[in-house]
Amino acid sequence: MLIPGATRNPLGRRAILGSLWLSRSRPCLTIDRNAVLWSASLSWGHAANWMLLRRMPEIVFLGTGTSNGIPVVGCDCAVCRSRDARDRRTRSSVVVRYQGQQFLIDTATELRLQAVATGLDHIDAVLMTHAHADHTGGFDDLRRFNELQQEHLPVYADPVTAGMLRDRYAYTFVAQYPFYGGKPDLNLYEVDGPFTVHDVKVIPIPVHHGRLPILGYRFGDLAYITDAKVIPPESMELLRDLDLLVLNALRERPHPTHLSLGEAIEIIEEVQPRRAFLTHLSHELGHAVVDARLPASIQVAYDGMKVQTMDEAQAAANCGPARENARAAAN
Ligand SMILES: [Zn+2]
Ligand SMILES: [Zn+2]
Ligand SMILES: [Zn+2]
Repeated sequence: MLIPGATRNPLGRRAILGSLWLSRSRPCLTIDRNAVLWSASLSWGHAANWMLLRRMPEIVFLGTGTSNGIPVVGCDCAVCRSRDARDRRTRSSVVVRYQGQQFLIDTATELRLQAVATGLDHIDAVLMTHAHADHTGGFDDLRRFNELQQEHLPVYADPVTAGMLRDRYAYTFVAQYPFYGGKPDLNLYEVDGPFTVHDVKVIPIPVHHGRLPILGYRFGDLAYITDAKVIPPESMELLRDLDLLVLNALRERPHPTHLSLGEAIEIIEEVQPRRAFLTHLSHELGHAVVDARLPASIQVAYDGMKVQTMDEAQAAANCGPARENARAAAN
């Protein structure tokens, strides 16, 4: 079903105008960790200029933790006590920049803090994966973006999630206010197939979160899936020819509603994206320990991490020794 997209607003074009430029030909990890760390230190405005020059889309991990976050309240395990900043995880959410639009996926509990931490000050559309509290807890914080942008925000969700949002946040869908910031002003669209947002095509990826059907999303050669336990065969086909796949991995032990680390790696090996990043981790997985064990094409994401997709020349330059040097330098 084609979703009726909101009218394009000039403010929505503020960020970047770069077009998607992804490569799929070299099956190796192409991230330059130093470049990522350097980029992570930039504000969104500077990053946008840099992106415009390099014509690269990017994904920003606002949060990478499971529903408890890390550290877990009242836990003194090694990961919860870790001094590695990458072991501090807020609830899972990302921003995807694609074809000049900034898509926020989920409104995690710490949305306000995540926006402040990354300098996020503009959203063109909000895409919801499902209505669990860790993915919706920051829904009210969308009102600040109405105030900043002086426009309604389009929100996309499957019909079940949309119904739960209408129940849980009924006050946001009643009378419309002139974007003064007192409550979110939203246009909620129900998704049951590929749709367009400001002329940009988004492909929902249906997955099973235990018995709950939820959505991942694909933008060109980039896909984001969180909270999956099973990816049905039809959806596996939607994950072919990816440059970058983000997939959830909760812990080593099996879990009834989330992929374990081993299960996630099996799926990644089957669909063979050029790079994969793991998210929605529990405190049973320490960042440095797990990251060091992974194949070269898979990395553990962390809060604030930014990843650019790459063109052919960079892909070649960052394969093999260059990548290993980057890993050594980062450790
Ligand atoms: Zn979750
Ligand atoms: Zn712990
Ligand atoms: Zn969930």
